[in-house]
Amino acid sequence: MTNIFSHIGHKIIAVVGVIVTLSLLAVGMFYVWQLEKNILAQNERTMTKLTESVIQGLQSVMLAGYADIARSFADRLEQIPDITDFRILRITGQQAFLDNTTIENVNARRGDEEFLPRDDEQTVQVLLTDHPEIQKVISSQATVSYYETHSSGERILTLLTPIKNSKGCHKCHGKERPVRGVLKLTTSLGAVQEDIRRTWVQSTMVIGVAILGTLLLTGLLIRRTVVRPIGRVTGAMVRAADGDLTQTVPVMGRDELSQMASSFNHMTRQLMQTYTGLRNEQDKLATIILSAREGIVVTDNDGKVVLMNPAAEILLGKSMTQVVSEGFFSLIDDPDGLRTLLERDAEIKESETIHFKGRVLSVYAATIRTHQGGVVGSAALIRDITEEKRLEERLRRLSTTDGLTGLFNRRHLDETLAIEMERALRYNSPLSIMMFDVDHFKRFNDEHGHDQGDRVLQAISQSMQEHVRKVDIPCRYGGEEFLAILPGTGQAGTIIVSERLRHSIEQLEVDGLRVTISIGIASIPDLDVKTPEAMIEAADSALYRAKRAGRNQVIAAHRNDSGSD
Ligand code: GH3
Ligand code: MG
Ligand code: MG
Repeated sequence: MTNIFSHIGHKIIAVVGVIVTLSLLAVGMFYVWQLEKNILAQNERTMTKLTESVIQGLQSVMLAGYADIARSFADRLEQIPDITDFRILRITGQQAFLDNTTIENVNARRGDEEFLPRDDEQTVQVLLTDHPEIQKVISSQATVSYYETHSSGERILTLLTPIKNSKGCHKCHGKERPVRGVLKLTTSLGAVQEDIRRTWVQSTMVIGVAILGTLLLTGLLIRRTVVRPIGRVTGAMVRAADGDLTQTVPVMGRDELSQMASSFNHMTRQLMQTYTGLRNEQDKLATIILSAREGIVVTDNDGKVVLMNPAAEILLGKSMTQVVSEGFFSLIDDPDGLRTLLERDAEIKESETIHFKGRVLSVYAATIRTHQGGVVGSAALIRDITEEKRLEERLRRLSTTDGLTGLFNRRHLDETLAIEMERALRYNSPLSIMMFDVDHFKRFNDEHGHDQGDRVLQAISQSMQEHVRKVDIPCRYGGEEFLAILPGTGQAGTIIVSERLRHSIEQLEVDGLRVTISIGIASIPDLDVKTPEAMIEAADSALYRAKRAGRNQVIAAHRNDSGSD
């Protein structure tokens, strides 16, 4: 259920309603309160006038000497309708004209029996002698009023008006007291209260109608001037938020709402421009990605694969659906490897070369971050470097091998021998080199031609490769001189290999022609040599001695050959 205060119009009407209601209630209450006061004051004035005219009448009757008439006048007063109580009291609070006290006093003062005493005397104490209001009347000689509430709940008003002792009264009543008696008038306020109640009801109805009218008018006004324009803008905003940026709102007038509509229109125009620009950039990017030769795979922040270009599908041999279901980290079937690549991308901007399904791939993985550094996904770039690696390997081979024989060249020999010697000396392991030279090859060339000589050199190389182990390094030292490095092989083993090779070459026939070789070997730890140069020098000396000794033989270097002893 939607809260009614979710509408701005309802909110404004609620606020205006509360303010208007409170204001009208305050004004109404003040008005009615004043009215009540006026009604009561008016009633009081009327009653005061009544009592005063009664006193006037009574005074006239008394002064004319008709005390008897005054007595019956007093008796009849109580019968006035709407008057609850109307009596003439003495200042003692007793009702006058019921006993003979006054008659006796008057007769005594006048010295004769002017007035006849009553036969049925009665004493009625209407108010206590020391009743504060009576005392007030006597002391102020003015009318005093007071309100009381009956036990029945009825409000009553009592007026106490002084009957002053004027000059004409002194003859009968003496002149000791300024106030002769009090006229007590008690009237019910029932009718007045009914008037007040009616006024309340009428005022409440008027106020109610005024509130309703005000709210209705305010509501209509707010609806026309505020709610509808806001509704138009918010409606357009909601549609824009749903993707429809073509939304515009009519701008009417120059108030804040019109400014809001104008700003909204401006904003959607700007957004549309930005959006179109972004779409164009995205299209360009998509074209680049889709037509790229490199495989590109992109995930969102949750690691879900959201983009995979055709090149990636071809390179990995997987469809995007397969990659999405397997997950980004299973891209190259090595989740740990890819995770490591991704984690190190911040420091090392290097790709990893992997062998995948018969291809050599270069994989680069990176976390995609915003300008602020927030992670928005990951990406993997995959490049097929199989051909590159093949060419690289070919180049490497070309730079380390000899063109005629296919054996390692002198440069590779120098590099390798240095490494192997260092290793052998550090780990105290044996190492030998075997160096040989074709016997009388100059003569052979002279007799059979240089090309024939080359073919012989190729056949010798072939045989040499066959006689050494995989870990050995056969090299063409230069011209018709060869050298093999034999890691882990001591002098005795090298002599055996050398003899076998020498014998094999001796037996080797190339186009019906034969040659022999002389071999010099050098080994550590048999020789105390520390450098590759000393090692080669020792082997060369041994080879020289083999030549001197008649050729076609193997001679191991001794300490003198290395020049170390
Ligand atoms: P020795 O028994 O003392 O070794 O006699 P030799 O004639 O072999 O003398 P040396 O080792 O000094 O011979 C070098 C000859 O080897 C010179 C050259 O004719 C031949 N030679 C060097 N390099 C090549 C090559 O690449 N091809 C051919 N066919 N011959 C080469
Ligand atoms: Mg030579
Ligand atoms: Mg030679």
